[in-house]
Amino acid sequence: MTNNNQSVIDYNMQTNFATSDIGQDIYQLITKLYPICRSITGSGFRETLKILQEYIPLSVHKVPTGTEVFDWTVPKEWNIKDAYIKNSQGKKIVDFANSNLHVVNYSIPKHQKLSLQELKSHIFTLVDYPNWIPYHTSYYKETWGFCISHNQYLELKDEEYEVFIDSSLEPGNLTYGEYYIPGETTDEVLISCHACHPSLCNDNLSGIAIATFIAKYLSQTTPRYSYRFLWIPGTIGSITWLALNEDKVSNIKHGLVLSCLGDSGKFTYKKSRRGDTEIDKVAAYVLKNLKQDYEIIDFFPFGYDERQYCSPGFNLAVGCLMRSPHGSFPEYHTSADDLSFVQPQYLAESLLQCISILHILNNNKIYYNQNPKCEPQLGKRGLYNGHQNSRINQMAILWVLNLSDGQYTLLDIAERSGMSFDVIKHAADTLLAHDLLASLKS
Ligand code: ZN
Repeated sequence: MTNNNQSVIDYNMQTNFATSDIGQDIYQLITKLYPICRSITGSGFRETLKILQEYIPLSVHKVPTGTEVFDWTVPKEWNIKDAYIKNSQGKKIVDFANSNLHVVNYSIPKHQKLSLQELKSHIFTLVDYPNWIPYHTSYYKETWGFCISHNQYLELKDEEYEVFIDSSLEPGNLTYGEYYIPGETTDEVLISCHACHPSLCNDNLSGIAIATFIAKYLSQTTPRYSYRFLWIPGTIGSITWLALNEDKVSNIKHGLVLSCLGDSGKFTYKKSRRGDTEIDKVAAYVLKNLKQDYEIIDFFPFGYDERQYCSPGFNLAVGCLMRSPHGSFPEYHTSADDLSFVQPQYLAESLLQCISILHILNNNKIYYNQNPKCEPQLGKRGLYNGHQNSRINQMAILWVLNLSDGQYTLLDIAERSGMSFDVIKHAADTLLAHDLLASLKS
């Protein structure tokens, strides 16, 4: 049994990754997206999609404010130009230009003078991490607020302040990005990520960037499955997509939600609600074959958009791949989830694991042994003397022949034999070429 995770992907792919600066490329995209003030709607989201279009020709969809989507309604569009707090001397002590986290996302426009006491009821801080700025939102309740470091909060003097929020909350659109890669079949793999957080790297720029690079990679191939990529605002985006595309949902056979993939933490795979689907098995296999600690967790109805894809009315085979899960690291939803918190090497490794999962999914077929009564005579087909032909793995050939009774996938055979997926796949390809196997499903 091999413990080398890279053995699950083919040789060319390994070489491509080893010789490229893919981690740097992903990091560079994150760096470009980092300054933008994103939200669940608005120009920051559109600007983000425009940058992604430099990498892949994704389409931009707009859904008007007020559209009913199941039990929800597409909200008003939020945009912001500027915001600050000035002290009694007219000095800006909090400035949106320095960090877009300073303003509670979806704050209504505001311009007023107020006392320290009044100001404090609109300020959020992190007592445990007094140098960091927290990230707060108020999408569905019209209010306003500022987020500052707790140290700065403690220094606020009892004086009159001027707050200014140059935002707008008006009818407009919810925007999302979609990219479809047609495969050999109309059965689809869904890759979904939320793209609504402002300057926060692990959650969610890492997911946005890795989804983009997977799409770029797959667009150069003709995969077995068709692929649908979604860059959507969290929760309302997946609800909107599912509500408006119900006719397409039955095509989705497998899916992954991607987030928190740039930090140094161990990989975490959260299973689909069904828990025993092919994507669950493939993801577990790939992580098991890493020379690293990892964690597989059961589905629970909280987290990212898997909550919607796995709601009982859809119950899709969609899991969620992360490194450190949301809420488990102190930097989560704070200004410390910055460009130093994610690193190219972890991003590259995460991309590789995603591609490995998709590679196995793509090749995980079920075959029929065409000569099931006793073993076929391999010698007369040049398949016996394994030592003379190092490309033929005798044991792999025997395992594939024995277990190809229409019940077992190649991954099942890899697991049962303890051999790597690609060795088993190579044996199956060899047997197919000699008409000793036939395909059960395309
Ligand atoms: Zn988040």
